This record gives sequence, C-alpha cells and structure tokens, in this order.
Amino acid sequence: MKAEEIELTEKNGLLYTEEVLREFPKVELHRHLEGSFPVDCLYELSVKNNLDSPRDFEEFKASVQFPRESEPDFLTFLDKFKNDWYRSYEDVYRITYNSVKNLINDGIFYIELRFSPEHFALQNDFDREEVTRLIVKAGNKAARETNIIIKYLLTFNRGKQTEEEMIPLYNKLKKLGLPDIVGIDLAGDETNYPPESFKRFFELVEKDGLYKSSVHAGEISPSSQIWASIKELHAARIGHGISTIHDPALQDFLKEKQVCLEQCITSNYQTGSWKDERHHPIGKLYRKGVPVTINSDDPSIQGIDLTGDYYKAMNYLRFTIDDLVALNLSAIKYSFNSEEVKAQLKTDYLNKVSDFKKKHRTR
Ligand SMILES: [Zn+2]
Repeated sequence: MKAEEIELTEKNGLLYTEEVLREFPKVELHRHLEGSFPVDCLYELSVKNNLDSPRDFEEFKASVQFPRESEPDFLTFLDKFKNDWYRSYEDVYRITYNSVKNLINDGIFYIELRFSPEHFALQNDFDREEVTRLIVKAGNKAARETNIIIKYLLTFNRGKQTEEEMIPLYNKLKKLGLPDIVGIDLAGDETNYPPESFKRFFELVEKDGLYKSSVHAGEISPSSQIWASIKELHAARIGHGISTIHDPALQDFLKEKQVCLEQCITSNYQTGSWKDERHHPIGKLYRKGVPVTINSDDPSIQGIDLTGDYYKAMNYLRFTIDDLVALNLSAIKYSFNSEEVKAQLKTDYLNKVSDFKKKHRTR
C-alpha cells in the first residue's frame, strides 16, 4: 500500500488508520477455520509432528501463505490447503482454540465460522462426530474468553465428497444436536461440480429445517450457478457470487428474495476470480441495494485479515464508516439466527460502534 493511502479522514472529523480499523467491531459470515490458522501455531504443529515442511520460520510461512508477489491463481491458492497437519484429536483442538482466540485481533464481534469435519478427520480417519464436537468445544471456549459470539457452519466439499457420502455424514452430525451449528456450506471446485449434483442433499437439509444453507457460487463460475444454488439448493446466502455483477436480472432477484452475497475482496483477487481489486464488484452491488457483506474467507493463507479487507473497502471502494456499519447490520440481518437473537445482536453491535466512534473521534 502506498504511503499516502495510510490515513483516511472523513468529513465528520473521524480519522481511520488500518490500526484503528482493526478495533472497528465486525460481523463476519464467511470465514473458513481451515484458512484461519495462526502461522506460528501451524509451525509448532509441524515441528511437533515432524512433518515434511521447512524448519526455518520465514520459509515455513512462505510455504503456507499465498505468495505476496504472485500473479492471481486459483490452483496456487487451493494448493495451500493441506489436511495432514493434525495427528491427534488434541492437535485439532489446539489449532481451533488458537484460531478462534486470534479473532479478537481482527475486531470480530460476531462470527459464523465454517469448517469441514471431513477435512480434519480424513488423514487419520478420526471419528467425524468427535472432531465436530471438539472443534465446537474449543471454538466456544476461546470465544467465551475473548467475548466473541460464535456460531458454526458445516462445510461439505463438492470435489472431495460425493452426494452419496455427504448425506450419511450430515445425518450423523445433525444427531449431535449442537445448537451453535446453524448452517450447511457447500465449498470446493465449482467448475467441475455444479450445484445440480447436490440437489438431493440440499433437499434433505431444507426438509429437515434444522439449518440454513450457504453455497459457494459465482466465484469463478457464471451467474447461472448462483440461480441454480438458490432455486435448486435453497441457498439462503451465496459465497462470493461475484458474477452477479454481470447479471442485472439476478441483482433484482437477490434484492427481491433477500439473498445475501458473502463477498471477499482479497480472496477474489488472489484466486484470480476478480482481477482488479480496486474495482471489486462489492462497491457497485452495495450501491445498487443488492444484499452484500464483507468477509475474509481464508485470512491466514491470504496473509491479510478482515481488517485489511475493510481497509481496502474504504480506500479503494470509497466506503465510509457509516457504509461499513450498514454492511455489518446487513450481516446481522442475514446471519442464521432467530429474529429475537438478531434484534439483541443489533442492539449490542450498535453499542460497540458507539464506543468505537467515541474513542476515535479526533475533533
Ligand atoms: Zn469460502
């Protein structure tokens, strides 16, 4: 970032640096636990488990993060997700606990954190139910200690699990009856595994009525996949959905049906799904009234956290602090909570914003 862009002053006399924005209270709907591991914690795991990765910390860091100077590339990005870090249940617990504990440094007030039980369990064939229980337990403990409100989405990966595998796993996990799990997420390779292939699974989720669904769509695929995710998979929210910018009819449909796009500026740039982050579609979509929210996706892989995305939103897309408040209120509105819980979250959130503004008013 250039030096002259470091400080942002608004007409109302508020001064926001990136450090100040770090304290801005944030509501996040789209962040993967698997992309949120603190690098030092991952390094410790790698040494403890004697894994085949660099022993020099800087080299290690470079090996787990998307290269800063690299051209955007979807496969380079996906290649950073590995599932052989964990060799015991204790490893899964520790990495989750430390990841959630870290969220407070990003100003998180409320988060819906998503994780794939299959990702954590596959390498060692851990019990999927036990892994799920442990992750929720570790996350809740860290969130309690930092005063963050946390809920969870269970991720199913379209390229790594077939629908025939997803359904029995889902049936097992729902029986755990964990109240903090509020949603189901479909992630992974959009191009080769279109929404239609998972219709039976999402019909079942819809029929059960226990969870709402968020589907990754329109990240690198055309807007037809967003339509299909809503109409056939009953998606209540869409992960990314950037191809909406090319489809005015879809923009109207999202407004009418109140389906929210979980947008991720840095992630979209690094994966190559949107090449010009200074003109990320979230600016235009927000101003057209399409429901959108700002999210980090995989901050530790990206080497930039949600605060960095907020900074870009102000700096590149000219969002004001009041726009950011509006986007966060929108995130509360589209969170997977009851209306009663949302009303309480809104009150508490606005109190946090008021404290933040008082603290950082410069004149
Ligand atoms: Zn994602």
